[in-house]
Amino acid sequence: MRFVKEPTYKKYITKELKRFDDRNTALSRGAVEGNKYTKMHQNCLKNLQSVKPGKTIIDHATWVAGATVDYVVRANLLGRETKPIYNNEYRLKNPNPDELAKLIKEKAHWMGADDVGIAKINPAYIYTHWGNQNVNYSHAAEVGDPIEIPAECDTVIMMVHEMSYGVIQRSPGIEYDTDIEYSKGAWCASSLATFITELGYRAIPSVNELGINIAMAVDAGLGELGRNGQLITRDYGPRVRLSKVFTNLPLVPDKPIDIGVQKFCEACALCARHCPSNSIPNGERTDEAWNEQNVPGMLKWPARAMKCLDWWVKNGNHCSICIRICPWNKPNDRLHKFVRLFAEYNILPKLVIYFDQLLGYGKQVKQIHYAQNPEVELISPEE
Ligand code: SF4
Ligand code: SF4
Repeated sequence: MRFVKEPTYKKYITKELKRFDDRNTALSRGAVEGNKYTKMHQNCLKNLQSVKPGKTIIDHATWVAGATVDYVVRANLLGRETKPIYNNEYRLKNPNPDELAKLIKEKAHWMGADDVGIAKINPAYIYTHWGNQNVNYSHAAEVGDPIEIPAECDTVIMMVHEMSYGVIQRSPGIEYDTDIEYSKGAWCASSLATFITELGYRAIPSVNELGINIAMAVDAGLGELGRNGQLITRDYGPRVRLSKVFTNLPLVPDKPIDIGVQKFCEACALCARHCPSNSIPNGERTDEAWNEQNVPGMLKWPARAMKCLDWWVKNGNHCSICIRICPWNKPNDRLHKFVRLFAEYNILPKLVIYFDQLLGYGKQVKQIHYAQNPEVELISPEE
């Protein structure tokens, strides 16, 4: 890995990047075009009766349990922008941005974040308006309300939350780590925001709300943008969820990084080949947008996000195949750290990909792990 002056996508920008409207995310459009996310959950409930491996009542219960804290915290805490009730009289004197950046990272790790980066906010990555999905989650605004981050809050602290390697292998069976990690994101973002406001500064915590996490995480030096449209981190590949805190606390930002993802993705395209909905482009980068789900103006592999969401509906639960199959998705142990060097320095990438497939990495693991019989019966109304 080497530090670079600018994020590696910069050279692919061909036009002015316009701010994106949260109403155009696939999940927001899905809410408008027939409540697709709810339908996905309804289909998941239907699947319980057929006791399919990876889609049993125990899998479903684990998945939904993982979302508990996320739902509660987003609805009750993340809509808040101002100071909490405790200290509103004093403020840290003569803050040292370098020391504070170290302190913030230490506290974020202590709260449960697996990696932390700091970036100056690029206004192009802040959503223009609230969309349905994030309003449904947070109740922080009405759909269509404009989004403005106060100008004084010019810094974002991005946090990475690692999803379990073993659980991601289950996809497209129910993969419940996405939601438990969102809960951890809600926990960490709200806790870190409270820490900052207690120091006498402003903090706006957020999980998926308010802006494009992946772009801001790239700027914060946490990874690079992959063909699959996800953040590819050095330690966990795309197997992560993100949360963030916007703040006016003076902090020294991190530098973006180059870990070799751009060239590796050009040689790979496993995610595109294995995507069941053909949502990930297989060919060259393009700066065109398929529809309003994409931001034009940068050469990349824009996903067909609504096709992806329609597959989730059909599947009955969300999908993480493009995370599971990605060669960057490996346990972060010594052996894999060593092999990762080949990817980082683009040494024989085709051979790395060939052996990745030959050794069976990225294959689905379907088995039902539980001794409990997962068949279901209807609960009678009298009970
Ligand atoms: S989540 Fe599944 S359907 Fe969507 S892009 Fe990834 S592999 Fe394709
Ligand atoms: S599967 Fe291959 S092409 Fe897709 S994001 Fe991962 S490395 Fe890039």
